[in-house]
Amino acid sequence: MNRQLKNCPKCGKLFVFTTREICPECAQKEDDEFNVVREYILENPAANIDEVSKATGISPSKILKFLREGRLMLSPNHVNLILQCESCGEPILTGRLCKKCAARLEQEMRGKMHTRRIKGDEDTKGRMYTLERLKNRNR
Ligand SMILES: [Zn+2]
Ligand SMILES: [Zn+2]
Repeated sequence: MNRQLKNCPKCGKLFVFTTREICPECAQKEDDEFNVVREYILENPAANIDEVSKATGISPSKILKFLREGRLMLSPNHVNLILQCESCGEPILTGRLCKKCAARLEQEMRGKMHTRRIKGDEDTKGRMYTLERLKNRNR
């Protein structure tokens, strides 16, 4: 028999340690909270974590903990819950930018590279000097 008594880190009560780090009472409470969150997310896939927290009364950190523990699974419908595009705030499933911003940034990068290449040609050939001067005058 390998029964181990532990103090519940949540309520301090002594309990028989099994697989959970918390006492059965607290575990039950956490399960209830988990179910509330899960149900709310299922019904409101577009809600973000703040909205879920407000609606369920469960702190965002706890919701994140459920997610990190892998108990709460996100489907593509749950894009708002965790990640937002760093550029425009659009909900995303993975990475740091939404597709739109990623494409835009890539285009900007390409545009810059393109300009640089043309300028390089000017420098080496020295033919566009006049045009460049005209452009500057019009500025
Ligand atoms: Zn407890
Ligand atoms: Zn974006």
